[in-house]
Amino acid sequence: MIRHLLSGADLDAATATRILDTAAEMATVAGREVKKLPALRGRTVVNLFYEDSTRTRISFEAAAKRLSADVINFSAKGSSVAKGESLKDTALTLQAMGADAVVVRHPASGAPHRLAEWVDGSVVNAGDGTHEHPTQALLDAYTMRSRLGRLAGLSVTVVGDVLHSRVARSNVLLLSTLGAKVTLVGPPTLIPVDWATRAAAANTSGGGAAQSPDITVCYDLDAVLPTSDVVMMLRVQRERMTDSYFPSAREYARRYGLDGQRMRRLPEHAIVMHPGPMNRGMEITPEVADSARSTIVEQVTNGVSVRMAVLYLLLGGNNA
Ligand code: ASP
Repeated sequence: MIRHLLSGADLDAATATRILDTAAEMATVAGREVKKLPALRGRTVVNLFYEDSTRTRISFEAAAKRLSADVINFSAKGSSVAKGESLKDTALTLQAMGADAVVVRHPASGAPHRLAEWVDGSVVNAGDGTHEHPTQALLDAYTMRSRLGRLAGLSVTVVGDVLHSRVARSNVLLLSTLGAKVTLVGPPTLIPVDWATRAAAANTSGGGAAQSPDITVCYDLDAVLPTSDVVMMLRVQRERMTDSYFPSAREYARRYGLDGQRMRRLPEHAIVMHPGPMNRGMEITPEVADSARSTIVEQVTNGVSVRMAVLYLLLGGNNA
């Protein structure tokens, strides 16, 4: 088993599948009256959050507690970070306290990688800047597999603000490893230039979509909906935007928002995902978010099982 989970690229197909299978076992605990396993008794998990979070933070806390670990929740607000303490000094403090695992969210891309150099325990990236969010990709893959029965060969369309999305980056890496076909859709200004160029370079079709071995880039949402098994809507991340990337919210919603009419272009079996938090009415309408195709609430539930599996396996549960 790997020691840290920093990127979707850390996972080969066998390791990722093992995590998903373990998560399925962990999910049975949620159905019990006593939702607890003794697997990590006596181990300490620190949640180190330098950026706001609702789902991820609660989910990691619930996961560690269900495995009977001792959990320390640290948020930058109200700590010595507010007095200017560096990430390194914070890491040394955690080290001195004997943290077995540190779950870290940080606004700077790469911060979890640095932390992993300074602590002896396992580091789990819970979102670093616009870079990666590997446990979100795992819970998304888990949700697709449990709803659609497989990952290999699935057509997954990721829509919206790909540029600022760590969820998209981790999903592209993991889903390609697991054999799904990923299409990125959004305004050209919100598709990372390197991905658009890579896909365009591999374009042999000469049509509207540009092919590459692992990703396709398309700027027309309506064109790809009829062949999508999964549509993953991304939040427009205004807090990370320093520029104007599209004319207006209304124009964005008109071209790239998923409303009921567009949803009906999807095949019968297709599902709609969103990592949350949602901008209802912008990238997704309430009709779609609350529809039977939506897996948004399920993704949150699955997040706990997946994070239980990650902590359990990284910390050597069952001598992993
Ligand atoms: N919650 C996800 C993240 O932390 C997605 C988002 O914020 O839009 O990256």
